[in-house]
Amino acid sequence: MKKVVKFGGSSVASADQIKKIFDIVQMDPARKFVIVSAPGKRTPDDTKVTDLLIAYYKAYQSGKSVRDTQDAIVARYAEISEELALDSAVMREIAYHIHELATLDKTDTFTYDTFLAAGENNCAKLVAAFFAQSGLDTRYVSPKDAGILVSEEPGNARLLPESYEAINYLNELPETLIIPGFFGVTKKDAICTFSRGGSDISGSIIAAGVKADLYENFTDVDGIFAVNPKIIPHPQPIDEVTFREMRELAYSGFSVLHDEALVPALRAKIPIVIKNTNNPTHPGTRIVVEHTKNVTPVVGIASDGGFSTLNLSKYLLNREVGFGRKMLSAFEELGVRFEHMPTGIDDISIIIRDVFLGKENERAILNKLAETLHPDVLNFEHQLSIVMLVGEGMRAHIGVTARAAKALSDSRVNIKMLSQGASEYAIMFVVKSVDEEKAVQALYHAFF
Ligand code: ASP
Repeated sequence: MKKVVKFGGSSVASADQIKKIFDIVQMDPARKFVIVSAPGKRTPDDTKVTDLLIAYYKAYQSGKSVRDTQDAIVARYAEISEELALDSAVMREIAYHIHELATLDKTDTFTYDTFLAAGENNCAKLVAAFFAQSGLDTRYVSPKDAGILVSEEPGNARLLPESYEAINYLNELPETLIIPGFFGVTKKDAICTFSRGGSDISGSIIAAGVKADLYENFTDVDGIFAVNPKIIPHPQPIDEVTFREMRELAYSGFSVLHDEALVPALRAKIPIVIKNTNNPTHPGTRIVVEHTKNVTPVVGIASDGGFSTLNLSKYLLNREVGFGRKMLSAFEELGVRFEHMPTGIDDISIIIRDVFLGKENERAILNKLAETLHPDVLNFEHQLSIVMLVGEGMRAHIGVTARAAKALSDSRVNIKMLSQGASEYAIMFVVKSVDEEKAVQALYHAFF
């Protein structure tokens, strides 16, 4: 049995948390590959080290004094290091690295990423020092030495597929390996980070590369729930969910795991388990390729706001060849991506996330479509939410949509649009954002 374990920011936020992760790793010899985030929040109003590093970078770029941010970052590590009674050489090296950032070339495309990556990198060094001091045969391995080669896309790196062979070499090392998450190196040796929350991706990549049996992702919750606990207090926990179901849930609001982190583990068919550093004996939620037991038609309900639709109607639209292509090209030309496209005989709606829209894009899209397609009706509608009913089990059940629609109508929620893909593991309802919570509550009570 071989396990990759990833500890998120809250699991390395303080000396006490780091002692917990040591116990977790030591308790199970299969936990040989350890990925760590940067120290996160200790209390809800605390600041993550990564956010302090962003402030540090901004001060440096704008020529302001970097003293306060440097001190705040060094103080976070120093406090942990002191409480763990680490050799002072460890902290001297960390402080040196933090200060050294303010000598980097301000014009270099990868300088921002190098600042950010320092959070994880120094944390991994500190954790490795503590594990070694506590008697575990440990080695810090940089992402470069681990073979994590990435594309040259600052803040949004993608793994180069040839990395996997190099990562597999980690199996040859006898020690427990501590690897910083969140970043890799480009072919030209520049540090390049994944998107925010990207240590989850690093863990999944290492799991696929070393061909682990399990990827354990430790966070500060006992796994995931069937619905957002802010909408339904104490909802039903999910003990098993498939990768496909998880993707649907993550897409529409479940934020426990970075959605890009699912791909490497899924391709390598490695199950993931979400566990709690503060309650490690809890079994957590397993993300699996196929369900191992009988499932209910719906495993979870997710929702997310911030959507708009472009609605277009034209009489006899169905007879015009190339209409859809012309319509979508207006979006493509502006680099605006779309999320869904429900259609009727004479109408098409395009659902877009507001963050990719903006007044100027809207005007340009409306002008272009009016000019090229001569529609009867053309408008944007805003303040919409999607509510997603997710479960592979719905394929084998008749009446899931009927039950959902009845629950929504009983709660006086108007369904603006409705769509279910041919794969039948999710049904999407578009509702007005003011109705989002009401819709989720109605659906939860209908299915759980
Ligand atoms: N420290 C990074 C962030 O805050 C990456 C991570 O925690 O996964 O986004």
